[in-house]
Amino acid sequence: MKAVIAGGGIGGLNAALCFHKLGWDVEICEQAAELGEVGAGIQISPNGMKVMRALGIDGQIEAAGFRPRATQFRMGQSGQPIFTASTAEYEATFGAPYLHIHRADLLDILKEALADRISGGIRTGVTVTGYGQNKDEAWAFLADGSKVAGDVLVGADGIRSVIRSQMIGAEAPVFTGNVAWRAVVPVEKLGRNAPLPVSSAWFGEGKHAVTYLLRGGKLANFVGVVERDDWKNESWTEQGSRADALADFAGWHPTITTLLEQADSFYRWALFDRAPLNQWVDGRVTLLGDACHPMLPFMAQGAVQAIEDGYVLARCLAKKEGIDAALSAYFEARHDRTAKVQAAARTNMEMFHQRTARGKLTTYGPMWLANKIKPDLANQKLAWLYGHDVTA
Ligand SMILES: Cc1cc2nc3c(=O)[nH]c(=O)nc-3n(C[C@H](O)[C@H](O)[C@H](O)COP(=O)(O)OP(=O)(O)OC[C@H]3O[C@@H](n4cnc5c(N)ncnc54)[C@H](O)[C@@H]3O)c2cc1C
Repeated sequence: MKAVIAGGGIGGLNAALCFHKLGWDVEICEQAAELGEVGAGIQISPNGMKVMRALGIDGQIEAAGFRPRATQFRMGQSGQPIFTASTAEYEATFGAPYLHIHRADLLDILKEALADRISGGIRTGVTVTGYGQNKDEAWAFLADGSKVAGDVLVGADGIRSVIRSQMIGAEAPVFTGNVAWRAVVPVEKLGRNAPLPVSSAWFGEGKHAVTYLLRGGKLANFVGVVERDDWKNESWTEQGSRADALADFAGWHPTITTLLEQADSFYRWALFDRAPLNQWVDGRVTLLGDACHPMLPFMAQGAVQAIEDGYVLARCLAKKEGIDAALSAYFEARHDRTAKVQAAARTNMEMFHQRTARGKLTTYGPMWLANKIKPDLANQKLAWLYGHDVTA
C-alpha cells in the first residue's frame, strides 16, 4: 500500500513516519526547494509527545529542545504572576513531558527519522495543483503536468491547501483583528532580563506576549499578539520593524522590551479564524493539520493536533476495513476534538486581552485565587487535551 502526501511540513513528515510504522510506502511532494521551517519555537504538549514516543523520536526531541519548569500566566507590565502550573505535574498526570523546540530542529528530527527508515520518498521542489481518483487509486497532479499515485492521497499542504480547495471549495477566513509578532534571540544577549525557564503568557490590554526558551535554554522565543487592523497578511515571510514591535509593547516588563531591543528580525503574521469543516474526506483523499483545522495559536496546539491526526489516520487504515471506512473513521475520530481545540483557542484570545479594570479583576482575580487554593486546577482543566493518548 502507498500513501501520497502533499506537503512536507510538520504534519506531512509526521504522517509519513506513521504510515511507515504501518508498513506502507510513502511519497511526499513538497513545493519548497528544501524542507525547512521558519526560525521560531513551538510548544509540544504531552498529547503530542506521546506520538513522538510511539514513533521512537521522543529522545531526540528532548535532547534538542527545552523542558520548562512551569507554564505561567503573568501581567504584561508588572510581571505579577497570575497562575503557575508545574510541568512536572503535567508529566506525572498525563504521562509525557511538555517541551519547547525550535521548529527547524523538530523538522530535522522528523526528516532524519524518515531518511533512516525509508529510501527516497521525499520529493522537494514539487508543487501539487490538485487531485484525481478512481476506484483503485488516488493521485496528486503536479505543476509539471505529471501525477503521483497511491492508495490514499493526504493533503498536508497547510493553511492554503489546494487539496482542500478542490475538495470543499473556496473558504472565507475571518480576520481576527490580531497580528502576531515573532522573534528568537540568543539568551546571552538578554542579561538579567532573560525569560525565566518557564513558558510564560503575559497579558495586557488588547495584546499579549508569550516567552519561552529553546535549545537547552540558549535561545529565547518571543510571540506577541496585538489587536490592530492596519495589516492583514497571513505569512511568515513578512517582516515588520523593531520600532513597530517596541511601540506595540511600550511600557511592558523588561523581559519583553529587552527581547525586542535585542532581536535581529521581526516576523509578523495576521491571524485569521476559520470555522470547523463539516467534511474532509473525498473517496481516497483526505486532509490533515492546518489543511483541515487551522487554529488560532492561543492553545499552542496547531502542530500537535496535526501530529495526532497522522497517528489516528494510520491507525484507522491499519484496521484493513477498506479505504472508505478507514477515512470515515479517521474523520469521525478527529472532527469533534479538533473543533473543540479551535473553539478553546478562540476563547483564550478574549481571555488574554482584557481591556477594562473590571474585566481584569473578574477574569484574572479568580484565576489567581484558584491557583492559591487549588493548585492542581490546571491539570483538571487540561485533562481532555493533554491527557488524551491517540497511541493508546
Ligand atoms: C504565532 C503562531 C504560534 C504557534 N505556536 C504553536 C505551538 O506552540 N504549538 C503548536 O502545536 N502549534 C503552534 N502553531 C501552529 C502550527 O504552526 C501549525 O498548526 C503547523 O505548522 C501546521 O502544520 P502543517 O504541516 O499542517 O502545515 P504547514 O506547517 O503549513 O506545512 C504545510 C507544508 O505544505 C507545503 N505546501 C503547501 N502547498 C503545497 C502545494 N501546493 N504543493 C506541495 N507542497 C505544498 C508547504 O510548503 C509546507 O511545507 C503556531 C502558529 C502560529 C501562527
